[in-house]
Parts: sequence; structure tokens; C-alpha cells
Amino acid sequence: MNVLVAGSGAAGLTAAITAADAGLTALIVESTGRWGGTTMLSGGGLWMPNNPLMRQLGIQDSRADALEYMEAAIGDAGPASSAARREAFVDSVPRVFSLLARLGVRWCAAKDYPDYYPDRPGGRVGRGIEVEPFDAKRLGQWVTLSRADEGLPAPLKTDDVWLLSRAWSTPTGFVRGARFVFRTIGGLASGKKLYGLGTALVMTLMEIVQRQGTEVLLNSPGQ
Ligand SMILES: Cc1cc2nc3c(=O)[nH]c(=O)nc-3n(C[C@H](O)[C@H](O)[C@H](O)COP(=O)(O)OP(=O)(O)OC[C@H]3O[C@@H](n4cnc5c(N)ncnc54)[C@H](O)[C@@H]3O)c2cc1C
Repeated sequence: MNVLVAGSGAAGLTAAITAADAGLTALIVESTGRWGGTTMLSGGGLWMPNNPLMRQLGIQDSRADALEYMEAAIGDAGPASSAARREAFVDSVPRVFSLLARLGVRWCAAKDYPDYYPDRPGGRVGRGIEVEPFDAKRLGQWVTLSRADEGLPAPLKTDDVWLLSRAWSTPTGFVRGARFVFRTIGGLASGKKLYGLGTALVMTLMEIVQRQGTEVLLNSPGQ
């Protein structure tokens, strides 16, 4: 074993995936009896400035704008958000995106989701990405060992959340609502158990971990 990973949320799973892809042997230890962490219960939205999906959708962005926005939104927060760390984060976006896409992650844009301060210098709408809804049945017995029953058992996407509330008052809300209903019914009709948001994110990552053959130990706190 070359790399010991503590935790089975998005951070831990991604670290193990990256190690295995680099030819190293990883071991994931999870302190609780169920994997998935807070990520399993989260919105699963990734803030990925200047990501490849933005270019496909014609949304302009740049490294300089992303860094300008981080300065405007975060300011001086000490070493936790140093210039070097911000640059490393922004520069890693295309590599993280393409590594995980190559291994099977189906990214999609949350194109209506804004930066939390979109009016500040460098701010944008459309930097958010997420994964497509995931069929839990693909994970076999690993589903019962996860926190999935604490998540929302529906193939929800980030932009659904605000557009669904307008399903009866705006055309775009109605179209979004109809798509969500078709996605849900389509999943049920084809015998799938679809999850969206953070649950889909960690399940997608866990499927890669399983395929890479990385061992995951539950009830095993790293000390
Ligand atoms: C309702 C909600 C919505 C959210 N929405 C978003 C969102 O849309 N976008 C976003 O970016 N963030 C969101 N967040 C925040 C996000 O969920 C967390 O920042 C993220 O999941 C953290 O990922 P992680 O892998 O670091 O930790 P976790 O997913 O919490 O995983 C950590 C794991 O490590 C385990 N662990 C802890 N200590 C040890 C140890 N000593 N040894 C072994 N294992 C250990 C824990 O049991 C846990 O399983 C949301 C949070 C909530 C609650």
C-alpha cells in the first residue's frame, strides 16, 4: 500500500482515485460504519471556474477572472487561501475535470447557478458543475453500506431546485419540471434507482474506486 486515505467523502474518494490512476496502491479507511460522508447529503455542486463545459456553452471565463473573483469574495483569509493555493486550485480545474471524465464521471453544467457574489469583480453565472444522476443499483451491496438512505432518492439536479418552484408560472420552469418528471419516471420504468446531487457524486466516485480495486475499510478510524 502506497497511499492511506482517511475518509470516504468526495475528497477521500477522489484522492484514492487519483493515486490508483497514477499506478499507486491506495487504502481508504472510513471511521464510521457507512461511507459517503457529508458529501452524500450535499448539493454536490462543484465550483469549477473556467471549466471545459463553460466553453462548450459559450460562457466566457478566464484564470485571471477566477483569481480576481476569489480576491473580491475571500479577501485576506491568511494561509488557508494564499495566492499559491488559489492558483493551484484554479489551475487544477481542467486536470480534475478531464481525469474524472476519462474514468467515467458524466459531468453536466449547472449553468444557471451563480457565484455567491456575482456582482463582484470577476463574478459569473455558470461556473457550477455536477454529475449526472446515478443509478444506485450499479453499486450492488455497497449501497446498503452507504449513507444513501439519508439523501434524497430522486434524480434531482442543481438548477431543478429553483426552476421547479416556477413550474406553473414560467415556460422555462414548466419545461424544467417536465424534464424532471420524465427523468424520474424514465428511471423508475427502466428499473433504476436514481439519485442526484451529492449522492450521485459520491456514488459515481465509489464506482470508480471499486473498478480500480481499491480496498475500503469501514469502522476503521485513522489515528
Ligand atoms: C446540505 C448540504 C449541502 C451542501 N452542498 C454543497 C454543494 O453543493 N457544494 C459544495 O461544494 N459543498 C456543499 N456542502 C458542503 C460539502 O458537503 C462538504 O464541504 C464536502 O462534502 C466535504 O467533503 P469531504 O470529502 O472533505 O468530507 P465528507 O464528505 O464529510 O467525508 C469525510 C469522511 O471522513 C470520515 N472521517 C472523519 N474522520 C476520520 C478519521 N479519523 N479516519 C477515517 N475517516 C474519518 C467521516 O466519517 C466522513 O465519512 C454541503 C453541505 C451540506 C450539509
